[in-house]
Amino acid sequence: MTTEREAVAAGFDKWVSTLADWVAIPSVSADPARRPEVKASADFLAEALRRTGFPVVRVLESNSYLPAVYAHWPSGDPDAVRVVVYGHHDVQPADGEERWTHPPFSPQVIDDVMYGRGASDDKGNIAAHLLGLTAHLQASGRSAPAVDLTLLVEGEEESGSPHIGELLDELADQLTADAIVVSDTGIFNADTPSLCVGMRGLVSAELQVHGPDVDLHSGVFGGAVANPITELARLLAAMHDQDGHITIPRFYDGVIEPTDDERAVTAALPFDESKWISGPAASRAAWGEAGYSTLERIGIRPTAEINGIFGGYTGPGGKTIVPTDATAKLTFRLVGQQDPAAIRQAVSDFFAARVRDGLTVTLDWESDGVAPLYTDPTHPATAATQRALGAAFDTDTVLLTREGGSGPEADLVAAIGAPMVFLGVMTEEDQIHAPNEKAPLPLLRKGCEAVAHLWRELAAVGRDGLVADRG
Ligand SMILES: [Zn+2]
Repeated sequence: MTTEREAVAAGFDKWVSTLADWVAIPSVSADPARRPEVKASADFLAEALRRTGFPVVRVLESNSYLPAVYAHWPSGDPDAVRVVVYGHHDVQPADGEERWTHPPFSPQVIDDVMYGRGASDDKGNIAAHLLGLTAHLQASGRSAPAVDLTLLVEGEEESGSPHIGELLDELADQLTADAIVVSDTGIFNADTPSLCVGMRGLVSAELQVHGPDVDLHSGVFGGAVANPITELARLLAAMHDQDGHITIPRFYDGVIEPTDDERAVTAALPFDESKWISGPAASRAAWGEAGYSTLERIGIRPTAEINGIFGGYTGPGGKTIVPTDATAKLTFRLVGQQDPAAIRQAVSDFFAARVRDGLTVTLDWESDGVAPLYTDPTHPATAATQRALGAAFDTDTVLLTREGGSGPEADLVAAIGAPMVFLGVMTEEDQIHAPNEKAPLPLLRKGCEAVAHLWRELAAVGRDGLVADRG
């Protein structure tokens, strides 16, 4: 009997050359001139999925979105766990040519590392589903996967997934699932497999305080009418207390406090805070909400951030005025089950209740915002994914992490209505979105293997096991 590992090893060299051929297609979604290449990349993936055995493969095209790939392989068992895999086949632009020592679209393998745009983000991680599935079939002796498998690989994620809603609507009937597997993320580092269980949401606004209708002489009027800049500063400062807690009533509704276990897991992550402060944070000290560690502040706590502030006279010299207006740009990162609409209302009410007579505040929200993605860390799908990664990395310890950023994942959960897990093997060293993007082949090999283990693990949990007792 072949094991998943043996099957991956047997097919790996051929898989690497398939990945290299795919990476050679410059599917840059941001560049309108590259549209034919985005289509060629979708066609390439579709063909590879057909060769792997998927009976249903379609390249989805429309006048709005760039070509996406849909594939389906039923398990043959009507009670099988249904899985939707999400990822993308478009890539970031490869500008800054002089900084690429390895050409972005002529992939090379040097010392067991593949260089090329998309080798990691996200072609390497999506291609893992090809060999991973083959290995699953060989190891299980099945002629169809043990789970009902659907793939949705979009072509404009690197451009902000502007049409993901349209794509999900169009496929609504075909995306029924008991679990969503996102393969577009990574692990803590090459020696520390981990599973992301949360991403923050986001709402953004411009806050304007309007005072007198004309700039006033600060000698003749100053002190007798409210100054909009002073008032804006007062309103903004009121959003936090001395300890960094957000004071907006109802703001923390839906925030989920970490359990002791979760806190212990976060505390155990190999995170070097002083390196982080002087390195990526380019700062002299860490600061944030009292009672939470730096990783907790990024992963599980919401923020009220001021991104910009302007108003009054900012030219050379001085100007003695009480200005008419003051403006700030604000963003709120959301976590847990915070609801963007409720947050927008809470923030509006907060400023409206505090503004002085004679001044008006307006809040312009940029959009409806993005909901946070919260995965129950105790969900059986999470545990199954931890086991699959653990089997590929030969460890019983697969850490759970939460990421501070925001993506289309919450849209997928809302549209499909199933728990989400993340299976990807990118690391911070891969230089994704930067020149000389790369992916170590040993990690990609583990990624392929983890896919093979995951289908076995999810099938073993069963559909009832994934939905039972979730109250
Ligand atoms: Zn990506």
